[in-house]
Amino acid sequence: MPTPDETSLVAAQALRQLLQIEPTLELFDDKPRVIRAGSLDELFQMIHTCTKCPLGFSRTKFVFGTGSSHADIMFIGEAPGRDEDLSGIPFVGRAGQLLDKMLAAIALKREDVYIANILKCRPPENRDPLPEESDSCLPHLAEQIRLIGPKFICSLGRIAAQILLDTKTPLSKMRGRFYDVGGAKMLVTFHPAALLRNPNFKRDAWEDLKLLRRSYDQSLGQPTGPKFAGQ
Ligand code: URA
Repeated sequence: MPTPDETSLVAAQALRQLLQIEPTLELFDDKPRVIRAGSLDELFQMIHTCTKCPLGFSRTKFVFGTGSSHADIMFIGEAPGRDEDLSGIPFVGRAGQLLDKMLAAIALKREDVYIANILKCRPPENRDPLPEESDSCLPHLAEQIRLIGPKFICSLGRIAAQILLDTKTPLSKMRGRFYDVGGAKMLVTFHPAALLRNPNFKRDAWEDLKLLRRSYDQSLGQPTGPKFAGQ
């Protein structure tokens, strides 16, 4: 019987493998899974009735993701909360409203980016994802990342970053540099809900967002646009 740590290790290793290897297994097979779809719509049709983990039986709505299907920047949170579970749309509650402001601060709108979560279904009482839940759900996210092909990923909060990077490193030590996740450059920042609880972190979050925006502009070969005055 693997320990929870071993299980989450397998999940994170699987994410990296899933983004690289060819499809060999059927959806919802018992073994490590690779899901392949031709489009985000097709992927949604394939997975939105998922009951691979118990959260599939307690959810109100499956929270797939939202935004541009060819976004250069993807934001990845932890899991739907109450508002998201009811609406089926990620980041629509208070934390989502702050995320909208964070995007606006670097001259981005929700329609410009893609927003998704590690888990597609709400954990009861918003508890942290269990390793077996993220293990079941990561192939969905991996295929979203593959289909969208973002240049940048911004992970929101400690839990999303630790799952994606397969580490127990504290958030403070993960910030400030880029990691390769499925060919995208991933930056780690605070979860908007944490910023609501601890406004003192907003200064550091702003530094992260400026780094993201500058690096994105550099990737486009252009100076940071006039709308973004955060230099
Ligand atoms: N928190 C998250 O991590 N994701 C959401 O969609 C909403 C709140």
